[in-house]
Amino acid sequence: MKYNLFNDKRGKYLISACCLAIILIILFMGEKTHHEVRDVVQEQFNEQQLLYSKQIAIGIVSFLNERTIMIETLARHYHGDEHHPIFDEFANVYNETTDIYAIQFLNESGIVTFGYPEKNTPVGYDIYEKKRGDSEADSLLINTFEKVKNTKKSEISRPVMLMEGELGTFIWAPVYKKNDFKGVVLAIIKISDISNHIVKIPELSDIIRIIDDRGMILYDNSGRYKPGYNYLNKSRVGNPQLRNIIINQINGHEGNGHIFENEEYESLVAYSPIIWRSMNLSVSITTPESKIDDLISSVYKKQLIFVSVSGGFVLLATLLIIILLFRWNKELEIEVNEKAGKIKQSNELLQKVNKRLLELDRHKSDFLSMVSHELKTPLTAMRLSAELCLEDKIDPNLKKNLHEKLISNIDRLTLIVNDLLNTSQIESGSIKYSREIVDLGEIISNSVDTIKETSDKKEITITLDIPGKLMNISGDKDRLIQVFVNLLSNAIKFSQNGSLVEIKIAEFDKYFEVCVKDSGIGIPTDKLESIFDKFYQIDSTSSRPYGGSGLGLFITKSIVEEHGGSIKVESTYGEGSVFMVTLMK
Ligand code: ADP
Repeated sequence: MKYNLFNDKRGKYLISACCLAIILIILFMGEKTHHEVRDVVQEQFNEQQLLYSKQIAIGIVSFLNERTIMIETLARHYHGDEHHPIFDEFANVYNETTDIYAIQFLNESGIVTFGYPEKNTPVGYDIYEKKRGDSEADSLLINTFEKVKNTKKSEISRPVMLMEGELGTFIWAPVYKKNDFKGVVLAIIKISDISNHIVKIPELSDIIRIIDDRGMILYDNSGRYKPGYNYLNKSRVGNPQLRNIIINQINGHEGNGHIFENEEYESLVAYSPIIWRSMNLSVSITTPESKIDDLISSVYKKQLIFVSVSGGFVLLATLLIIILLFRWNKELEIEVNEKAGKIKQSNELLQKVNKRLLELDRHKSDFLSMVSHELKTPLTAMRLSAELCLEDKIDPNLKKNLHEKLISNIDRLTLIVNDLLNTSQIESGSIKYSREIVDLGEIISNSVDTIKETSDKKEITITLDIPGKLMNISGDKDRLIQVFVNLLSNAIKFSQNGSLVEIKIAEFDKYFEVCVKDSGIGIPTDKLESIFDKFYQIDSTSSRPYGGSGLGLFITKSIVEEHGGSIKVESTYGEGSVFMVTLMK
């Protein structure tokens, strides 16, 4: 018995386990690939974030540099002449340079003497008076003023709270007349102006923060921490990652980190230092990690769409190919079946022809033995009659009798030889037919007359049922007589002595039908077709009681067909036969 895995219980378990294992492996591989993809995307994302933070840092430094150069140029051109303040130059620089809050001149005592625009210039303000109420800011101003005076170099001081309540940074450029210190040109820039100008670059960043070297928030675009807020202090409360990052920022490092923003969701941070002379700031970009997942899922979505579309196309193409192949296959199948059918038909035909040829061959052999017998018998009889006739004292009656026998045997031989001759003429097509108008009734009468002697010998009565009028047909009279003599002689030959042979002519529109009916031995149904074959005899044994060559019906049929007619037979074995000949009018 054939083993079927699906029918076996253990087989089913095995298949289920295999499927489960394959699913688990696929899930595991999928998860692993997802993690690997995520790591790669995150790494690239970090690099990009870092690049953005560097870009911001560079932007801010060059922003400050540009403005510092302007202020330094102003300071170099001015020698502190109190009677000729360079008010117009201040105005020019202010107007041509964006994002400067005010340009002021502090004389050698640290007192603001003039500046532009006037509304932002507290003329008479003395930094040594410490009017701000913010001791740290006051001392920063004094310290930077003195540092610039002593080093003769420009300086940018750490951002402090301006009197307007906003954070601002100061660019200091010393003014000297030869070696005499005359004061300082001071440019005030609001941190918010710097930030707004620079931080719009990144596209992916969510939160951008700038802190100073003490961890104080200078800028936070999310608005979560106000400028001046101590970010380092905040990070002390249970957020060690954030704290590490802020310390790194304070120390002027750049890098990437990972924090829990708001302790709710994970964020990625990239930070870069903003170092200009003694000022040390740091910018950070914080992005929720979910953005990476969004990024990955958008890539997956695109891939999925691509795979689905191309898969769909592949499926469609495969389907089309399958349909085409199926059609071709079907057509081929039909063609092959047709061809096979034709081959089968021609095979059957060939077999039939072969069988027929074999049959003919057998008939021929039968004929040869039969014809030699048919020729030998009369010849022997003839020789015997001739020898007896030669004797001297032969009775004249016997002599006459012998002569009659001699003639009858000669007639018998003539018939056989005629049949053979006719057959050979039919086959070679050399038989000649004359065409004349003949009366069918006359032909039948002549035929009956010809056969009269034979029928009389067997005391067979021949009855005629013929319309009493002319039945003209066109044909060869002698050949047509031969047809009916053949049929009548067969009817007599295969009938008992004293029986009846009937001839009946029926007239139809276009033809006459002649029926020759006997009540003789009849013909078996399976032999009905063969009797018209050349050399065919139902009984072809040498001991058969009836003479003949087996050519009579072959010749008969050929003559009838040559006249445009047909011949058929109906018979009941043991009861008799009817031969029907139709002849065109
Ligand atoms: P044959 O010289 O033997 O008569 P035919 O060609 O005339 O040759 O006839 C072929 C055979 O058909 C005959 O040998 C005989 O067996 C059969 N046959 C022909 N006519 C009759 C008939 N009227 N009744 C029975 N058998 C017949």
